Amino acid sequence: MLIPIVSNPFYSFSFPDSHRFPMEKFGLLETICREKGWLNDKNYFRPGTAKMALLAQAHCSDYLSRFMNNQQTKQELRRMGLPWSEGLRKRTLISPNGTFLTAQLALKNGVACHLAGGTHHAHYDFASGFCILNDLAITAKALLAQNKVKKVLIFDCDVHQGDGTASILADEPRAFTCSIHCEKNFPARKAKSDLDLGLAASISEQDYLLTVESSLKGLIHTQQPDLIIYDAGVDIFEGDPLGLLSISEESIRMREHIVLALCKEAGIPVATVIGGGYDDDRLALARRHALVVEAAYSVFS
Ligand SMILES: [Zn+2]
Repeated sequence: MLIPIVSNPFYSFSFPDSHRFPMEKFGLLETICREKGWLNDKNYFRPGTAKMALLAQAHCSDYLSRFMNNQQTKQELRRMGLPWSEGLRKRTLISPNGTFLTAQLALKNGVACHLAGGTHHAHYDFASGFCILNDLAITAKALLAQNKVKKVLIFDCDVHQGDGTASILADEPRAFTCSIHCEKNFPARKAKSDLDLGLAASISEQDYLLTVESSLKGLIHTQQPDLIIYDAGVDIFEGDPLGLLSISEESIRMREHIVLALCKEAGIPVATVIGGGYDDDRLALARRHALVVEAAYSVFS
């Protein structure tokens, strides 16, 4: 079985090489998926630009307009952490639609993977930490508004706390936010998710995997969501320059397997997004992000 995979050639655009944000990784990840035989024209889904009404589910219209017209203040741009460009605007407006499409494909097929997404630091009216629009919150709100789900679980395993998602969805009881992150990492001031597990930087790989497994098991049982959106951030990797955890690639592979197997076992559709991951070796990084797609194939086909 081919697993629906969502990607767009505009995700990686011409971007300063020296910048810490590895904008190249999206295109490299798509190439890896094609080379591995996980992706061809039959299971390739290409999202278009999101409609303003979709983005406005989770964001202030004044902020959306200021971003699109490059009218953010210097301070706002600094907090965003990315240089504004037409290319950035274009990919930013597509990516949330990609996660929304992935979620709909997951509801239909049981699983679907977005080769981008997980911009969880984006808040209602400001960008932060390389995140401009919160695809997770937008998708959750839109699916709930359209009655496509009654309850959605956002299971965020990026090394950084999903503060934007937690804030935007704070008053939405039908969206449960869980963030398993390293407590010492960005953001310094954490928001309040429905469940926060702020881990010590010294946590062992075994304890990390047990934490992921037991919390997801518990949430599936207590929340009984109709959909799980899984943020498979790989900045938990031991060599990641922006994460403080020490998790090996083999344990990341195990994490992806554990999460997807639990979703399948419970019969709950799962949509994956790639989340954060940083490395000067962009290809090694893209391979790390590919582990979640590999696990989807191993668990679901
Ligand atoms: Zn991160």
